[in-house]
Amino acid sequence: MAEYTDPHDDRAAEEMPELSDGDDDADDDQWQWMEEGNQPVTCLFCDRLLSSVAATLQHCTAEHQVNLADVIRKHRLDDYGYIKMINFIRSTKCSSSCLSGLPDGPLPWESEDFLRPVLQDDPLLQTDPEELCSGEGTCSSTCPSSRAEPHDVLLHKAQAAEERARCSEEALARAMEDLHKLKLLAQGLVLNAETSKPSNLGTVAELREDEDEAYFSSYGHYGIHEEMLKDKVRTESYRDFMYSNPEVFRDKVVLDVGCGTGILSMFAARAGAKKVLAVDQSEIIYQAMDIIRSNQLEDKITLIKGRIEDIKLPVEKVDIIVSEWMGYFLLFESMMDSVLYARDLYLADGGSVYPDVCSISLAAVGDKLKHQDRIAFWDDVFGFNMACMKKAVVPEAVVEVVRADTLISEPTVIQTFDCNSVCLSELEFTSTFCLKITNSTDCTAIVGYFDIFFDKGCSNKVMFSTGPQVTKTHWKQTVFLLERPVSVQAGEELQGKISVRKNKKDPRSLLVTIDLRDRKQTYSLQ
Ligand code: SAH
Repeated sequence: MAEYTDPHDDRAAEEMPELSDGDDDADDDQWQWMEEGNQPVTCLFCDRLLSSVAATLQHCTAEHQVNLADVIRKHRLDDYGYIKMINFIRSTKCSSSCLSGLPDGPLPWESEDFLRPVLQDDPLLQTDPEELCSGEGTCSSTCPSSRAEPHDVLLHKAQAAEERARCSEEALARAMEDLHKLKLLAQGLVLNAETSKPSNLGTVAELREDEDEAYFSSYGHYGIHEEMLKDKVRTESYRDFMYSNPEVFRDKVVLDVGCGTGILSMFAARAGAKKVLAVDQSEIIYQAMDIIRSNQLEDKITLIKGRIEDIKLPVEKVDIIVSEWMGYFLLFESMMDSVLYARDLYLADGGSVYPDVCSISLAAVGDKLKHQDRIAFWDDVFGFNMACMKKAVVPEAVVEVVRADTLISEPTVIQTFDCNSVCLSELEFTSTFCLKITNSTDCTAIVGYFDIFFDKGCSNKVMFSTGPQVTKTHWKQTVFLLERPVSVQAGEELQGKISVRKNKKDPRSLLVTIDLRDRKQTYSLQ
């Protein structure tokens, strides 16, 4: 396509090509030229028709001594200013010298009237003035084949957009957290005002202390302990582990981190422990004192009120640490941090932490009805579109029981911890996963749960699962809804990536990011 190859050949290359009836090649060229969408452009200052915007710019510079890019830059024209200038020149037929000799002050094309095109489909009006200044406009007009953006440019743009979307999602999750905090703070202020306590609006550390206070006071009420004790899967597993492995406990010194009502301490004492130290910061420990006395175990069990991080144990080392520290999706609540603190400070060489192994698993869920009820619901609420609410609903992970018949993949373990060796930093992690799909349908959510093992040195190993396939526990499961369901085929392997980290603003809550089929969503668990 000769007419595009030499942009410096002002006349021969830039004027409209002659059509020749008998010349097939020229015909082809002409068709291609038209198909690729280059429209002829009328010069701004004379009647000449030029083959492209680029050719017109060069022609204006060479023939009329007006460099449009310079004019745009000089007057700092935005899109509207540029459009008005083009229409002004065309409508007033002003000369090129009038343009170069403009006095300081308002521009002659300020009026909104100049937004109206003078020429229909004027290609100069379809040109971005910024591109025109940076020279990109010249290229895209000169090389019609480059009008369609190259694949790698598009890919780059898509990646940048995806990154922006990811950042926005994270910002949204953080904003939701902030809102939640503000709500709590406001509630606190109102309560304080009511009881005329001094305001608690203070440092972040004070806020943290208040949060911890709220955390421990939630364990002060009997209700939460009743729920845990009645969770047979949980409590019987601890009992069976201790009663069926007396050799592990015989004559040992045991530390119970977060003893609550004292149930695990009493199991340990009955299993043969020489001494049990039971620590809890919450007020429930006063009930535990009565309970231990009522069961004549006060000689064996010593109760200590306080945070494990703040108190000093009456012994230097312990042989065994037992604790029931697990939260939703295993790590919510971050109580594991306190167990690791106790392990590193008090566990004797060769001692053991129980439970010793825990794993987190994921599975794919296909539950269109639930998805309809939680997500599509917002599309039409009494005839009103409330779809914007989905952006608030989706990022909150849901703790609920998932029906086993809605699972559409085999489960896969994404992380395993050995409580005897794991370190604090490993509790935040990123894993890739692969879900073997068992049903051809839409995947509407990912479900997460954990399994717990009492293994080390046990002749009778015990485990329990909080998964959807077995008896439900008070931890239920944690559901991460997908805003848009993903269509999957039986036999397919659905690949993904998950990252779990503490929410810096509230370390007891978690931020979970799931990356599935190039869609990323951050969920908060609170
Ligand atoms: N062991 C009991 C209670 C488990 S609930 C049972 O199995 O039924 C967890 C308990 O740990 C709560 O009572 C809470 O107050 C306590 N706890 C959490 N973090 C603690 C810490 N850092 N120091 C002391 N107690 C803690």
